[in-house]
Amino acid sequence: MNTQELWKSVLGQIELSISKANFVTWFQNTSILSIKDGTAVISVPNGFAKEWLENKYNHTIIQSIRNFENDIRSIKCVISGPQPTIKSIDAVQPGKISDIRIPLKSQDENHPQQNQARYEQHKANFVQSLPKQATVLFHESNLNPRYTFKDYVVAENNELANAACVAVSNNLGQLYNPLFIYGGVGLGKTHLLQALGNEVKRKHPEKTIKYITSERFTSELVDSIKNQKIDTFKEYYQQIDLLIIDDVQFLSGREKTQHEFFHIFNALYQINKQIVISSDRPPKAIPTLEDRLRSRFEGGMITDISQPNEETRLAILRKKVNEKGITIEDDALRFIAENITQNIREIEGALNRVIAYSEFYKTPLSTALVEKVLSQFIIQSKKKVQVSDIVEVVEKMYSVTQEDLVKKGRKKGISHARQVAVYLMRSELNMSFSSIGEFFGGRDHTTALHAFEKITGDIEKNLRLKSELSTLKDEIYHSKGV
Ligand code: ADP
Ligand code: MG
Repeated sequence: MNTQELWKSVLGQIELSISKANFVTWFQNTSILSIKDGTAVISVPNGFAKEWLENKYNHTIIQSIRNFENDIRSIKCVISGPQPTIKSIDAVQPGKISDIRIPLKSQDENHPQQNQARYEQHKANFVQSLPKQATVLFHESNLNPRYTFKDYVVAENNELANAACVAVSNNLGQLYNPLFIYGGVGLGKTHLLQALGNEVKRKHPEKTIKYITSERFTSELVDSIKNQKIDTFKEYYQQIDLLIIDDVQFLSGREKTQHEFFHIFNALYQINKQIVISSDRPPKAIPTLEDRLRSRFEGGMITDISQPNEETRLAILRKKVNEKGITIEDDALRFIAENITQNIREIEGALNRVIAYSEFYKTPLSTALVEKVLSQFIIQSKKKVQVSDIVEVVEKMYSVTQEDLVKKGRKKGISHARQVAVYLMRSELNMSFSSIGEFFGGRDHTTALHAFEKITGDIEKNLRLKSELSTLKDEIYHSKGV
């Protein structure tokens, strides 16, 4: 077996043991360069992959290599390429940036630098030609310096999303484009997107960065149409280096906005400008999102943020308390982390409530005080849906038992019920795919992911399923008295 064949076999094994997103992110464009003195030297495309493979996947890789070559004891990664590619803009006409027509598939890869230079020249001319007021207005990046990577607690639930954002901040337009991050409300998407913008601003003050929610984007677009400024609007957006669109699910159903966004997206994408998008759900699950936009989103890197576990909630609380310079008993923080479980925004809300109370009554922040102040808050929180509520309604609807659901087995009726339960755990509780897999008898997280995606895809086509799910949800919430 030569080194190439060896690496292929190793990758084949690793692919089965980790998630697809992780596999593609960290193992694409890798190879074995040499094997010497028990060390395999692996070529990786960037420093980020090097760090990840050497630290996080070290053990997995060595274990897998040793299945084929027993005398390998360590690995070492070296960075070698790929060369950044700049996709061409084939014919740049004199005139406005919106006049630059960019072929979807670039044909002229031979003179990328020239094309890039032509584009930069255009951009400079364009910015010069804007009325002064418009320049000021449009150059608002909307970045809030409060959000940084430093203040973001990285844990199992957001590790990959955080890693992707850090990587993008170091390789604008060259690694993952677009980068698409999804996850439920209050789980830290906006924080991460803003941190990415702030980091790029710090490192490259000359870059044009724009953070905007999709709702704001829509209303700016509508205004520009009303004021006959649509060309200026488009030109402005097409000269941005880093475009961050938050909560893209709100574009759903807005045809005109999606149409304009698609063109801006393509224009930026073709010249390797970075686009970062967030949403409360994966592209597949956004109803009435144009197919061409969906497939653009799916063409980049997609990663999710799920619910933090108790330990992470505690770590975040400690960080927030630290930032505020407040002294509070650790047991009090533990109490909050244990009892407020929905999302981080609620946790912050609870903390602020306690702080306000203690300031007002000039009482120290003791555990007893926290328990007292939050008792009402917690009763409301406890009313929220639990895993057992979902299992119960699924059992009833499909005449199955929890044991059937958890047991291995592919009987058609049962596996459908199981998929529906997985879907509800994700959509209603935002559980991570690994904990869902664990619940269903220690299944792999990719199994849970596939089940979720299957139902997500089927809902669109299958009216019966759609109504089944809406009945199930009604039942779940009805049982909670909501
Ligand atoms: P989303 O955009 O997903 O709804 P946000 O980014 O607005 O959520 O997060 C809600 C609040 O929780 C923010 O104040 C944010 O700073 C905080 N937060 C979320 N995740 C983290 C984290 N991992 N570390 C520190 N703070 C976090
Ligand atoms: Mg947000």
